[in-house]
Amino acid sequence: KKITKKHSAKSGKVIKQAAVLGAGIMGGGIAYQSASKGTPIIMKDIRSEALDLGMGEATKLLSNQVAKGRLTVPKMGQVLSSIRPTLNYGDFGSVDIVIEAVVENAKVKAAVLSEVEGLVTDDTILASNTSTISITHLAKSLKRPENFVGMHFFNPVHMMPLVEVIRGEKTSDEAVAATVKLAQQMGKTPIVVNDCPGFLVNRVLFPYFGGFDMLVRDGADFQAIDKVMEKFGWPMGPAYLLDVVGIDTGVHAAAVMAEGFPDRMKPDYKSATEIMFDNSRYGQKNGKGFYVYE
Ligand code: NAD
Repeated sequence: KKITKKHSAKSGKVIKQAAVLGAGIMGGGIAYQSASKGTPIIMKDIRSEALDLGMGEATKLLSNQVAKGRLTVPKMGQVLSSIRPTLNYGDFGSVDIVIEAVVENAKVKAAVLSEVEGLVTDDTILASNTSTISITHLAKSLKRPENFVGMHFFNPVHMMPLVEVIRGEKTSDEAVAATVKLAQQMGKTPIVVNDCPGFLVNRVLFPYFGGFDMLVRDGADFQAIDKVMEKFGWPMGPAYLLDVVGIDTGVHAAAVMAEGFPDRMKPDYKSATEIMFDNSRYGQKNGKGFYVYE
């Protein structure tokens, strides 16, 4: 779908202060990207270790920029101080948008979103970075579904240019326009897509992961598959990609896809990815997935 005038960035309100819920792989990346492009952001998690990891990652990325001579030390300090890590909702009354990036679980997301809706102003936009869960479905827990939109970044946030902006059944043009504008402000390329489980990119990516799991079930060596896909031209193969994404997130997202498209995406066997999950091998985030990270 083209970005039409009614939800073009020109008509969207300017986001001056953002907040992100979750300081994990995605929340931390969103905070870094927002701050480094000049939009201050509050980063909230329920675990202080997650906040430390999120800030540590931002510091590492900024230090790399300083080492390459692309950023000065004072500028680095300025960017870091515009990310405000917190365990409570203190200043949420003054934010223009809240981007939810907690675990890929519809019940948890619905609870978190409705909790935060009670703390923000009537015109604060609520966005979800969900990989797969329908925006219309999540909106059911909200009193102001017109303010709710999907804002789907890709991993790693600082490197991947695309952002899917997802319009739910009740999302207003204003919310879409402001989200498109924010994505551009953050240096990204937004596309407005319709709502369905997996939106656009994951409608393509999850069948690919399914193809990978079937090959492994048929006896293929996962490392050989990765090598072949690298030679084919992809930056990494599917097993390594699942480790980067997070096996837990991958399994939760695959379950949403299976529920949404049972005739096409519901495997009738236990996949290698699910076996990794059952064995608490979540990928790079906990040091072991298909591969081991030291
Ligand atoms: P993650 O496991 O790295 O981080 C999730 C974070 O949410 C954790 O730090 C956890 O403590 C925190 N959290 C849980 N409940 C919370 C609450 N009530 N309030 C605040 N924080 C809370 O997961 P992730 O990979 O960052 O994924 C987050 C979301 O982004 C998911 O919806 C996922 O599907 C989506 N996403 C992930 C990727 C990816 O490649 N990992 C890509 C695009 C979108």
